[in-house]
Amino acid sequence: MRRTKIIATLGPATRDAKMLDKIIEAGVDVVRVNFSHGSADEHLETVERLRNRARAHGRQVGVLCDLQGPKIRIEKFKEGKVFLEEGSNFILDMDLDVNAGTVDAVGCSYKQLVDDVKRGDTLLLDDGRIVLWVDSIDGRKINCRVVVGGDLSNRKGVNKQGGGLSAAALTEKDKEDIKLAAKIKADYLAISFPRTAADVNEARELMVAAGGYAHIVAKIERADAMDNIKEIIEATDVIMIARGDLGVEIGDAALPPVQKRLIQLSRTMNRVVITATQMMESMIENQIPTRAEVFDVANAVLDGTDAVMLSAETAAGKYPDKAIEAMDRVCIEAEKSREVTRSDHRINTTFKRIDEAIAMATMYTANHLGVKAIASLTESGSTTLWMSRISSGIPIYALTSIVETRRKVTLYRGVYPVSFESHGEDRAAVSREAIDELLRRGAVREGDLVIITRGDLMGVGGGTNAMNIVRVGGYLEQSIDPNEIINNNNDS
Ligand code: PGA
Ligand code: MN
Repeated sequence: MRRTKIIATLGPATRDAKMLDKIIEAGVDVVRVNFSHGSADEHLETVERLRNRARAHGRQVGVLCDLQGPKIRIEKFKEGKVFLEEGSNFILDMDLDVNAGTVDAVGCSYKQLVDDVKRGDTLLLDDGRIVLWVDSIDGRKINCRVVVGGDLSNRKGVNKQGGGLSAAALTEKDKEDIKLAAKIKADYLAISFPRTAADVNEARELMVAAGGYAHIVAKIERADAMDNIKEIIEATDVIMIARGDLGVEIGDAALPPVQKRLIQLSRTMNRVVITATQMMESMIENQIPTRAEVFDVANAVLDGTDAVMLSAETAAGKYPDKAIEAMDRVCIEAEKSREVTRSDHRINTTFKRIDEAIAMATMYTANHLGVKAIASLTESGSTTLWMSRISSGIPIYALTSIVETRRKVTLYRGVYPVSFESHGEDRAAVSREAIDELLRRGAVREGDLVIITRGDLMGVGGGTNAMNIVRVGGYLEQSIDPNEIINNNNDS
């Protein structure tokens, strides 16, 4: 069973019920709805169709709505595109008509750009394919020299090398789209280009005001965000390593060490982490990934990411289901590696909370006692989040009657949602029901050991204060044959 979660971006290639069926069968865990494209009605309709198909398959699929954010773009060319010659002059003109671009000048969607740049800055267009050097500012015109030329077409993105653009993270469109995300009942809301914790907090407040319950994903894609990374991670629920824009701002070569550091940091801070962009890029056109893409996905798994994401591969590619299948098999194989099934996580720290301590004790015990599964009776899912920060090969089942919690945990590595309503009178009866549920799913068999975590007060979030080790078939908590412990022992 795969632990790393797969996110697929929906788009024209994944809109009809037939393809949605295929990607659900291929194992998609969370879908991403990209608010940079498409209309509100389209998004509402696609998500409803997706949820219907997921229900038909008896599967829980999370929904992540991704705000466009202040993506800065050039405006349009008269001819649709131009060819910029290296060494020539080119003007970004804040006052130029949106359709009046030529080989000499083009308009810009973000008028303050002229105030944010100075002579000597480097501007990167179309994900860095075109490089402009800022020569001078002349009123509302930015005079540039073309350092790297090539084809440039309508509405391509603009980034400033090293960051420092003042655009607010939430645009007017984003604020409207947060209401749409609430209406969609999104499980996650991703904010694009946040710079500070305040950006994250603002989005969260707007989400609450709109009546939604989505958890917040901070996309790390600005150089400036890296300067405030700890406060951003503290403020958010999830980070996305948005390698597309981030790579343009900090340089592609800086990405691999940053990815490793961000994954490590978010796990340590009890936050969830998504690795995104170009993971299976060649599969937009091809049925199999390149070797480099196979390594990229596997390395993200080894780094400890919760989820890997597909963008254009599933939104506009020829083989959305095959891209998911490829990710699935690469993740499963990488997860067999010993470095991700054993843990030294927080070995030298002290725990601040009781549920945290139970989660740590559970994972330590599970990893060292040949436990088959962990059943966490949970309201908010918080205990499973603590647990899933620890490397392990043992599945963590989140047993809950709350559908929002089941959808939330679709993103957590090694955590699987289970619909569970307890009627048991006492602790043993509830254990029996939980084990019966795992038996029904084929997750455990007679004789297996299972750890069950719970709170004394069922129905209270964050109240986990107990773990029980239970043998399937024996049901009641019982002592374990010491010989078995020795047999299962291993050297970590
Ligand atoms: P985007 O974000 O696909 O919305 O641009 C991801 C990235 O920048 O990597
Ligand atoms: Mn981006």
